[in-house]
Amino acid sequence: MEPTTREELLTAAERYARTVPIEVDLSGIDWECSDRAVRRAGACIYNRRTGNVTIRLTWSAYRSFGWEEFTGTIRHELTHAWEFQQFGESGHGGRFAEKARELDAPRHCRSFSDARLRLCCSSCDREARRYRASKAVKRPAKRRCGSCGSRYHVKHVESGHSWRTHAGYLIARKKLDEDW
Ligand SMILES: [Zn+2]
Ligand SMILES: [Zn+2]
Repeated sequence: MEPTTREELLTAAERYARTVPIEVDLSGIDWECSDRAVRRAGACIYNRRTGNVTIRLTWSAYRSFGWEEFTGTIRHELTHAWEFQQFGESGHGGRFAEKARELDAPRHCRSFSDARLRLCCSSCDREARRYRASKAVKRPAKRRCGSCGSRYHVKHVESGHSWRTHAGYLIARKKLDEDW
């Protein structure tokens, strides 16, 4: 049975964490569920003073991924918890990547926000939502607005970055890196 409430999600996550083969002290981890419209599926917060770790799971991400895929998010956040507990810091560097690979966890906190991209006409107000890097997002110069025939630009909603060409896309992608 997949969790259907926030409480159930937290319970399931805690239980699942016990089955993940990673040396973390689970008694030092608090689990939270976030309802805020954040882009990250999860977050791992370290209290340097107490050494306590909080793993925050995003409810809407769970709803959009489903449990099976969401366990990847849990393994990802547990990898952060492991780094925090072992080394007092955590990132997405080589050490993290290696451990994440062992656990078959995604290296990057996947962002999930719905339609984080907009394809906008430069002349009229026509706008289309895009969820991922589609052809039009990568190469907007090849498209023309269906209403007025003008060129499109693509906007990355969260950061405000926008581009009109493939080169522009590559630059934005590089700049945004994990915030893509
Ligand atoms: Zn991460
Ligand atoms: Zn137009």
